[in-house]
Parts: sequence; structure tokens; C-alpha cells
Amino acid sequence: MNAELFYDYIERISCFFRSEIRLAGIEYDLHPIQLNALYFLNRCNRYSDTHQGVSEYFGLTKGTVSQTLKTLENKGLITKEQDKQDGRVFHLKVTEEGEKLIESFLPTQTGKRALKTLDDETQTQLVESLRQLLQSMQKSNEMKLFGICRTCRFNQNRGKAGIFCELTQESLSRTDIGLICREYECQEA
Ligand code: SF4
Repeated sequence: MNAELFYDYIERISCFFRSEIRLAGIEYDLHPIQLNALYFLNRCNRYSDTHQGVSEYFGLTKGTVSQTLKTLENKGLITKEQDKQDGRVFHLKVTEEGEKLIESFLPTQTGKRALKTLDDETQTQLVESLRQLLQSMQKSNEMKLFGICRTCRFNQNRGKAGIFCELTQESLSRTDIGLICREYECQEA
């Protein structure tokens, strides 16, 4: 495999999305990081939708994250909800307005359109290969994995009893298992 070619393709695809995010930012008067944080909060689960989750996911300082979240909150795109068990923790929930923005968010639409140009099998293979690649890069850089719940080693399907997280000892819904989690660990770990 030609590593340069691989890098070129990934770099061009990233560049394409970055450019679309910049354009969307101009349209919605948001910085790219603010749009990305909003998107992440809409894709992550209840263990990850916190100030710390955003900070770890993007590798940003607390100060930068605070500013980012404040802007999203001031624009009515997210709200804070106090955790029922731990009053010190606040969950950042995307509002209806925020969801509408994400739905019209160009990179999301572009990603969907791009995938549709490939047949189903190629789409599945591509997504799986990218998942494996991302995980191996995260591991070698000792980064938190932030994977999708359904492939986590703690995810247990107990048949009629439902789906369960062995780590948190809580039940998971069908929606939960499609979300990003900061506690994720891959199967082979
Ligand atoms: S099963 Fe894994 S990814 Fe899912 S909620 Fe539990 S720790 Fe997070």
C-alpha cells in the first residue's frame, strides 16, 4: 500500500469537509469548532455529553470548551441538565433548534450523498475499515477511543432482557447503542 497516496486521499477528504464546515459556519455565524461540538453532542451518549466529554473528544482546553459551549447555549442550540445522581455534573442536550441546524448542516448531507454513490457492500466495508484505522491510530497515540457503543466490549445483548452496559451496569436502548461513548473499549482489548 502506498502510504503517501493513502495520506493524500484522507487529507483531501478532510480538507473537503473542513471547507464545508467553514462555509456552514459562515451561514450560521458559528466557528467550525462550535459546529463540530454541536454535532458531537448530538451523536454522543449520556456518559459523554458533558464539558469533560467535549474537552477529551476534541483535545481542547477547559477554557476553549467553556467558550464554545457558552456560544451554543446563548444561541439556544444546547441546554444544560443537571445529572440526577451527581449534582456536580451537567449534561449538554441539543435543543430542537440545534437538531434542525444539524439536519441542514452541509457536511452531514455531503457525507450521506457521498456514501450513496457507493453500493451497500462497499459502504459497509469502507465504514468498517475506517473504524479499524481510527482505533489503531487512537491506540498508538494513547488517545481515548470514543467508539460507537454497539461494538464496545462492555455491550451485552441479553436477548429478551435487553441490551446492557457491563461497565455502568445500566440498560441501553436501541438508540443508545448507535451513539458515541467516552468509556468505549474495543472488543479485542
Ligand atoms: S457498552 Fe461501552 S460504549 Fe456502550 S455505554 Fe457501556 S461503556 Fe459506553
